[in-house]
Amino acid sequence: MPELPEVETSRRFIEPVLTGQRMGLVEVRRPRMARRNVRPEDVAERLSGRRVRRVGRRGKFILIDVEGELTWVIHLGMSGRLQIAEPGETEAPHTNAIFQTESGTELRFVDPRTFGFVAVFTPDELTGSGLSRVGRDALTDLPTVDEFAETFAGRVPAIKSALLDQRFVAGLGNIYADEVLHLARIHPARRIGSLDREEIARLRNAIVPVLEAGVAHGGTSLNDLAYLLPDGRAGQFLERLGAYGREGEPCRTCGTAIERMVIAQRSSHFCPMCQRLAD
Ligand SMILES: [Zn+2]
Repeated sequence: MPELPEVETSRRFIEPVLTGQRMGLVEVRRPRMARRNVRPEDVAERLSGRRVRRVGRRGKFILIDVEGELTWVIHLGMSGRLQIAEPGETEAPHTNAIFQTESGTELRFVDPRTFGFVAVFTPDELTGSGLSRVGRDALTDLPTVDEFAETFAGRVPAIKSALLDQRFVAGLGNIYADEVLHLARIHPARRIGSLDREEIARLRNAIVPVLEAGVAHGGTSLNDLAYLLPDGRAGQFLERLGAYGREGEPCRTCGTAIERMVIAQRSSHFCPMCQRLAD
């Protein structure tokens, strides 16, 4: 599933293509992709002819300001990806929506499983959409160590689950949560209330470097190549992962075999030596 580095990589690609452009033909081929709008046809009707002001992001959501106080939301879901193409260029299978700019360039939304979505919201709709519950962005608006400590105090969930919860810090998914915990040397099953201040600082301070490294390499394309950059290349972070997906392989820090366990129905990968459950 695309996480913050994949979404940010996609955002950086589409930003210069869309910013300042008036949108032309918008074609949502599968109404399911526009299911978050009460009227799915609102997506095309509201975007066509309107100018894009700013291409932003919070967590895993691309949030595009469009004139008329509209917010164009793109979420890649489990298997979605964006593609920049010229008209007439061969379409990838499962191209479910096409957004053409006035200059003719196309933003295509490819999503085999259609768990992703596009929406165009008025300010009121945006407030009621649940997006207001998305927490602070893990890359650009990370809470302080004090704020982490306050949120974690006395609480029992495993730290891995807390990192996946998008309401506090938004953007981490299974891959990068494992990477953050590995870099911070914290076992994924630790209860968040048991972390001392030094551990919380290590954890907090591992988040941005891990995400920046992911972005620097274009994100992680797994072997299924569900995620690709908008120009069709694969993200190169897979071979640089320290923990995720490396069960049985040696820890890059200490050489101990990486282990896997299930926490909250998700696989967690960790080094049993660097990330001890108890000292
Ligand atoms: Zn290790």
